[in-house]
Amino acid sequence: MATYKQPCLHCGTFIERDSRFCPACGSGSPFGYICPTCRSPIGKEQKVCSGCGRQLRVICPHCGRETFVSEECEHCKGSLMIRCRNPRCGEKQFFQNLKCTACGKRLDR
Ligand SMILES: [Zn+2]
Ligand SMILES: [Zn+2]
Ligand SMILES: [Zn+2]
Ligand SMILES: [Zn+2]
Repeated sequence: MATYKQPCLHCGTFIERDSRFCPACGSGSPFGYICPTCRSPIGKEQKVCSGCGRQLRVICPHCGRETFVSEECEHCKGSLMIRCRNPRCGEKQFFQNLKCTACGKRLDR
């Protein structure tokens, strides 16, 4: 049976449908956007997350313009992610997160 592939939303590379990560760009949500706080699926048309109520538009720390909560800024393409500093975790986390959603450790910056 041929495996069905779908393009990654972030880089356009065709990858296995059941992938949890895009091997090409490293995105943790290759087929849709997820809330950086509670990891519920979110859409670009939403203003707040239906799971936790967080605002889904933020000010980019690089260019100061309003952008959708995603892995990179819509305007300057600057990364909105930081890496968890727990050496056993290392997950990419949204820059506004206070705690790592994977291991629960505080994110200091
Ligand atoms: Zn990708
Ligand atoms: Zn949420
Ligand atoms: Zn920006
Ligand atoms: Zn972590």
